Amino acid sequence: MPERLVVIGGDAAGMAAASQARRLNPNLDIVDLERGTRTSYSACGIPYLVAGDVASPDDLVARTPEEFRREHRIDVRMRHEAMAVDLDARTVEVRSLDHDRTFRLGFDQLMFGTGARPIRPALPGIDGAQVRGVQTLDDGCHLLTQAKEMGCRDVVVVGAGYIGLEMAEAFHRWGARVVLVEAAERPMSRTLDPDMADRVVGQIHRLGIEARFGVGVEGFEAGVVHTAAGPVRADLVVLGLGVAPESTLAEQAGLTLGTRGSISVDRRQAASAPGVWSAGDCAETYNRVSQRRMHVALGTVANKTGRVAGVNIGGGYATFPGVVGTAITKVCGTEVSRTGLSTDEAERAGFQVVSATVETTTVAGYLPNAEPMTAKAIAEKGTGRLLGFQIVGGAGAAKRIDTAATAITAEMTVMDVVELDLAYAPPFSSVWDPVQVAARAVVRQV
Ligand SMILES: Cc1cc2nc3c(=O)[nH]c(=O)nc-3n(C[C@H](O)[C@H](O)[C@H](O)COP(=O)(O)OP(=O)(O)OC[C@H]3O[C@@H](n4cnc5c(N)ncnc54)[C@H](O)[C@@H]3O)c2cc1C
Repeated sequence: MPERLVVIGGDAAGMAAASQARRLNPNLDIVDLERGTRTSYSACGIPYLVAGDVASPDDLVARTPEEFRREHRIDVRMRHEAMAVDLDARTVEVRSLDHDRTFRLGFDQLMFGTGARPIRPALPGIDGAQVRGVQTLDDGCHLLTQAKEMGCRDVVVVGAGYIGLEMAEAFHRWGARVVLVEAAERPMSRTLDPDMADRVVGQIHRLGIEARFGVGVEGFEAGVVHTAAGPVRADLVVLGLGVAPESTLAEQAGLTLGTRGSISVDRRQAASAPGVWSAGDCAETYNRVSQRRMHVALGTVANKTGRVAGVNIGGGYATFPGVVGTAITKVCGTEVSRTGLSTDEAERAGFQVVSATVETTTVAGYLPNAEPMTAKAIAEKGTGRLLGFQIVGGAGAAKRIDTAATAITAEMTVMDVVELDLAYAPPFSSVWDPVQVAARAVVRQV
């Protein structure tokens, strides 16, 4: 009998692991269990599906179950949910959702790629049919179908993190009247420093999205969201309150959990029991700057950690060095990105910080397409080590964060960044790249 790998979850982390394991070990019997209807989809594309930029959910699928079966010999079982794991017996209890049948599947190695689930606080009416979270492509499709069938006019988005903002913009462009409700005083409050987050607010209002900051939600009823500032009409409510790792199954099986309930893993993505692995949104990761364990729910990390798990499962050797905290989004024409630590995160990690915020332009300021861009650099006092970087600006601004992410990974100082030989011509940049302009401003304070 060949060795069997059972993978739970059929998206980024699960299928990256399964594909890598197959590449390294052609003899492995690989079974993937996915309770939804699609594999290897881009959840990141859901806002663009809702907004109408993407014609069909199928366009967001990188590889179908048939392709995995045919090209990788992975036995993908759709609409099959893992209900329980017995680590001693080395079996998974599986429910076939379409046939109302339960059976046991033995494994030699087991991979948890179960992802995350939207946070649903215990508020009255939160389980109402009109209150939806968004995590999987199936969630995105249900949301759109529901909106169309109900002829939605009024959509309330709760939470102004990046998913909330992207969904608010998507429904606005879809044609709904959108109200964004956020308990914090500003959007992206866990991602950006307050001075940078304030720059996003104006853009949200300018587009015609009504945003209520500093307002908590108290409950939901059909057609209405009750907030601390009064009721808001809502045909549909989209939750953007962040996600929690989907680790219930792993916890019940007795695996060790870490930050925010994510599955504890080592550098090779091995969980706390032999032959058990985890990656993606359900697994814990490591921040290379703060040197602390953390939970990150991003597709970039899910693909990389899934690959590392797969290499190790297949008999190879790979490690995941951790993240520096890079993220990017676009809100109503304004690009936003960050990497490293925010000022607050850096201080909580024990650094004494200096920072500078500079106003610059996306391309040479004299060109007609130049748009304003704000860049903030955060460095360690004394050493000048670059700890964090944030950008808010027009078209072409945010992806410059990759320069800062690379510099932080290499543990460069702001003095090193100033000396980098970066590309310049007027249609691309000012003669001093905006990342270097911000770095120079910090050098004076180090
Ligand atoms: C609206 C939105 C926008 C996003 N935008 C970005 C972006 O721009 N950039 C970025 O980097 N990231 C983005 N993300 C995050 C990114 O999509 C996730 O980090 C990534 O999908 C995580 O992959 P995963 O495989 O770990 O988990 P998931 O994609 O959540 O997949 C887990 C799968 O496991 C299945 N599953 C769970 N439990 C079981 C079980 N018991 N049995 C069987 N199957 C099970 C689920 O059905 C699901 O299909 C976005 C997410 C959303 C929702």
